[in-house]
Amino acid sequence: MKRLLGCLPVVALVWVAACADTAPVESPSPSPAPSAVANARPNVLLYLIDTLRADRVGAYGYEAPTTPALDALAGEGLVFEQAYAPGPWTLPSVVSLMLSQPMCRHGVVVDGMKISARATPLAAVLGEAGYATASFIANSYAGRPAGLERGFDVYEGPIDEPAPSVGAFLDETKDQPFFIYMHDVRPHDPHEATQESLAPFGHVDPKTLKRIRNRSLQYRRLTRVDHTAGTPLGSTENTNEQTAALTRLDELAASYGHAYDARIREADRKLAQTLDQLRSRGQLANTLVIVVSDHGEELGEHGGWLHDHSVYDEVVRAPFIIRLPGGELGGTRINAAVSLLDVAPTIAELTDTPTPSDAFEGRSLAPFVAQPHGATNGPFVASMRMNRKKYYRPWKRSRGDQNLVVRDGDWKAIWNVEPDTVELYDIAKDPGEKNDLRALEPQTATRLAAFARDYLERCKTRRTTPERPTPLSAEATERLRALGYVD
Ligand SMILES: [Zn+2]
Repeated sequence: MKRLLGCLPVVALVWVAACADTAPVESPSPSPAPSAVANARPNVLLYLIDTLRADRVGAYGYEAPTTPALDALAGEGLVFEQAYAPGPWTLPSVVSLMLSQPMCRHGVVVDGMKISARATPLAAVLGEAGYATASFIANSYAGRPAGLERGFDVYEGPIDEPAPSVGAFLDETKDQPFFIYMHDVRPHDPHEATQESLAPFGHVDPKTLKRIRNRSLQYRRLTRVDHTAGTPLGSTENTNEQTAALTRLDELAASYGHAYDARIREADRKLAQTLDQLRSRGQLANTLVIVVSDHGEELGEHGGWLHDHSVYDEVVRAPFIIRLPGGELGGTRINAAVSLLDVAPTIAELTDTPTPSDAFEGRSLAPFVAQPHGATNGPFVASMRMNRKKYYRPWKRSRGDQNLVVRDGDWKAIWNVEPDTVELYDIAKDPGEKNDLRALEPQTATRLAAFARDYLERCKTRRTTPERPTPLSAEATERLRALGYVD
């Protein structure tokens, strides 16, 4: 993509025309960009909704009214239909998003770890390029405890109601382009939705909501008894208790789904409020808005609940919507599989911001903007899991603690590292990943597993050392406890 930087304006649409020699275009005919937009560096709003699976979003085909604001944004934006979160839980996934590096390289996979002192997060890159930067986060994993406050002029977290803070920041930042990172956590368990939010989805009485909370917290605790006790993972045999806890969650499946949807709806309202803060100040037109998630949520599809213990699509396929300034190319849908490692390089390119060499491992998605249906991918590692904290006895043997996802066309392979097994799915025909085709397609399975193995070997040679942990603040600890992550 570096070869395109010389002809890159801030609005991708103009980029399409200006770079016609390097990127043949079949995409929709350009309409003139507003002059105020074409001459200014765009602002950037990167908005992350924690634990939001792509298939619970209206723009991705969900029928219940979870996401009216996000759907409207999608109508004005580019929708990446097969985007993969870098990992199945918050900490490694958000670090990967901000550094554009896979977790096998940055190594931040257990709470308390921080990014390397030499790492260059997106905020630092944009700040160096003259952007005013602000972070408003509700999940501590996305902030200071992981070193992710680096590069932000304003850092507020953890907070529940970011919209007013965004307004204040916008009022003070008038002569500079800005980069705002927002991280909402509402769809994360324990799914304590209000009755008003639940109404469009199904009745769940307060007693059942409490049961959902207690059972999910109980299951989380059962998975980390060794980590909490400081003993090697797997020391405690509690397979039966874990299996029973999963069964108790199965019993609440319908209510769990309603509560999850209701919390998504609450998060969608907060997104709408934040967009209103921009709109009411006349700043939305020149803002690149990107909405993503850090991972999804398993709702019993492969036997599990919550997240971080598998890499099936319900856990790692994320919504990814880019609204270009002025809403250019609105409604474009891009079917090729991509990784959220690509978010930072894409922002850098669309804002004409130089990046330090070798800092970002993802690639800019500008070619997909230019050619939504023509650009293609070869095989690539879309997501991974490196478990160092929890122990899922029901799947320990079959999955191990490390899994790499390789996408290649419609193929999705999962290489389970420790047992050295591969699963192979045709995502177009089998989006639920129920029909493992490794026996029918052994050559493809072997090829993609070898690709994953080579990738992991190369990644290890580039590994950086995370910083030593610093103690969490009392407030951050309390919030992680409320989410069930610490005892
Ligand atoms: Zn998360």
